[in-house]
Amino acid sequence: MTVIMDGKKVAAHLSEEIKQALEVSESHGIKPKVAFVRIGDLSDSISYENAAVKRFEKLGMDTAQYHFPEDVSAKVFLTKFREINEDYSIHGILLLQPLPKHIPMKRVAEIMNSFKDIDGMKASNLGKVLTNDSDRLEPCTPAAVMNMLDFYEIDLKGKNVTVVGASAVVGKPLSLLMMNRDATVTTCNLYTDSLVDKCKDADVIVSAAGAINLIDEEHVKEGAVVVDVGINFTEEGKMVGDVNYEAVKDKASYITPVPGGIGAITTTVLAYHLVKATEHQKEPVLFLEK
Ligand code: NAD
Repeated sequence: MTVIMDGKKVAAHLSEEIKQALEVSESHGIKPKVAFVRIGDLSDSISYENAAVKRFEKLGMDTAQYHFPEDVSAKVFLTKFREINEDYSIHGILLLQPLPKHIPMKRVAEIMNSFKDIDGMKASNLGKVLTNDSDRLEPCTPAAVMNMLDFYEIDLKGKNVTVVGASAVVGKPLSLLMMNRDATVTTCNLYTDSLVDKCKDADVIVSAAGAINLIDEEHVKEGAVVVDVGINFTEEGKMVGDVNYEAVKDKASYITPVPGGIGAITTTVLAYHLVKATEHQKEPVLFLEK
């Protein structure tokens, strides 16, 4: 019988941990506060931001929103971003992406303090994923995948894992997180030759490619764990993942739905990272180290 992995359950579990940590912060007179920074009005960014604001506020955290027009100059934006970064009342920053072409991501990342980087986008935090340093903030989507696997007690040690997708925000850091758990990882991209061959012997398949029905029955071995990170929309406007869910679900031992899978966990992971970020900033010496 296939287990349908429930993102809402995992998020609720993580929320309990967050609430306990918040009680400790509050007893020290600290209330975590996050700044959302968005340039332009992309509808995907707005919906993601609104969902995240709702989640943080529901958990009892403070939020601030900074919106800039699409044509804001790099000088004006970077000056304001520096101010937000240096504001001691703000413990975490979520920068909505993509940025317009004239605002260099590299410059923005350089300004952001590692301890405020709740979506783990800075090279310093990604480097800590590589070295498996626990004192880090990691990108929230790969972290959501790990939370899901941990909640369902899926041990990765010695397992063959295929990650489909190799972006810097999802596929690559996720592959490293899996390697840190002693899995044998194959990471695929758009140019991978014979995706079926890379997937069909995998104990765990994670797809983060952004392609409808990319993972079908032929890719999945009997009893495999299938995690679908993809978010795509059909012509009729229905949200679907990368996996042909109906074709695969009876073959898999565990599978995530879309919606209701990984996407249901990511904003709670961000809130968890804010708690962690706030904790770090109680130590002024640590905080000064960028
Ligand atoms: P991206 O476009 O930056 O990267 C996609 C990666 O997949 C690339 O490495 C590309 O080479 C690979 N790829 C694309 N088509 C492929 C194919 N046919 N075969 C093999 N590899 C292929 O995207 P991203 O930002 O990494 O996001 C990936 C997907 O995950 C998207 O659908 C995105 O919407 C979704 N996403 C979901 C969440 C969530 O919370 N569930 C969060 C972030 C991204």
